[in-house]
Amino acid sequence: DSRKYTGIVEDCCCDYETVDTINGAVLHPLLQGLVTTPFFRYFKVKLWCDCPFWPDDGMCKLRDCSVCECPENEFPESFRRPPLGLAADDLKCQEGKPEAAVDRTLDSKVFRGWIEVDNPWTVDDETDNGEMTYVNLLLNPERYTGYTGPSARRIWDAIYSENCPKYASGEICQEKKVLYKLISGLHSSISIHIAADYLLDETKNQWGTNPDLMYDRVLQYPERVRNLYFTFLFVLRAVTKAKDYLEQAEYDTGNPEEDLKAQSLIRQLLYNPKLQAACPVPFDEAKLWKGQSGPELKQQIQKQFRNISALMDCVGCEKCRLWGKLQVLGLGTALKILFSVDGEYRHDQHLQLQRNEVIALVNLLNRLSESIKLVQEMSPTFEKTMKGL
Ligand code: FAD
Repeated sequence: DSRKYTGIVEDCCCDYETVDTINGAVLHPLLQGLVTTPFFRYFKVKLWCDCPFWPDDGMCKLRDCSVCECPENEFPESFRRPPLGLAADDLKCQEGKPEAAVDRTLDSKVFRGWIEVDNPWTVDDETDNGEMTYVNLLLNPERYTGYTGPSARRIWDAIYSENCPKYASGEICQEKKVLYKLISGLHSSISIHIAADYLLDETKNQWGTNPDLMYDRVLQYPERVRNLYFTFLFVLRAVTKAKDYLEQAEYDTGNPEEDLKAQSLIRQLLYNPKLQAACPVPFDEAKLWKGQSGPELKQQIQKQFRNISALMDCVGCEKCRLWGKLQVLGLGTALKILFSVDGEYRHDQHLQLQRNEVIALVNLLNRLSESIKLVQEMSPTFEKTMKGL
């Protein structure tokens, strides 16, 4: 057996083998179906670069950086607001056009049955509707964009050094470790997606997997792989913990067939007998915030995570910013579900989520699930190569 990762995922409750099996057989197929439904594929986001820390350096010039707005004809009817004197052309997919207009077709009715409550873990700009757009995530996959160099490095450096310094070995503060591992796991996942969908030949516009990049950035560092598994289990736990809420939520987009499909897939995910048998509690959040300084520590870590959320506005490439914002909101939603603020969400029934939070949470879980699958598929190749050297 060439498995490199065995035993229980550190600080979690399931082992690597189980995660791989349950992800491959159950979670990955369900999530792949779920994220294609209209409810889950449109994400509301303010893409305007509004960095509070540094001036916009206009880093990314690559076509693949731009976000493609939703074309009118495939935008769900119930999401639409009568166009305010916009020509049909303005709503066409504008990928690659620097002047890509924001699609202002938000309709407050979309939030029927959904509340707008502040998420204390994120810098929330949900109510700022005038600057929001809906993005079809399927048209804008997370992949290589060419965003690199000092601008990208500055963001990651700020995230790590200012907000979640790497814990010293022997660090006893479990909670700080959690924040670092969540960010590192997300970083691994982003790098894996970049390597899995890479521009191999610019002149031929040829895309594909870049195994060396995957190895260089993630696979050669066991800690980065472990943190990916940790983040996956953490987010999975949040989804299953919020099951009462997610089961009853309104998945209406005006397309009954697709909406029923979304609801059915959500139920299959939340009440999956195989998952419940193999990994009933993927992460045990009850162990945290126990010490005397628990409340204070929680406030401190919440502040740090809010800073990370604010940093997403500084990501100098639109598509990276889209996925950065979505995934940080997804993590913030998982944190909100698992760690009540001053006991606010101590019971499941008090939990309230925004529509966008649910979309971010499920899409984040899907991204992590894809990364786990890619790591599992790619690792043996490298094991063999290394042995052959
Ligand atoms: P980086 O990935 O920039 O890493 C910087 C440093 O962080 C490394 O040198 C290492 O010390 C440390 N590090 C790296 N990985 C980990 C880890 N898993 N855990 C702990 N520490 C780590 N580029 C795209 O092409 N497409 C995208 O969609 C995209 N999205 C992005 C989203 C965000 C929020 C950010 C900040 C950047 C994004 N980028 C994206 C850029 C991309 O992440 C890299 O920054 C870029 O490709 C340059 O990579 P690098 O090799 O310099 O290392």
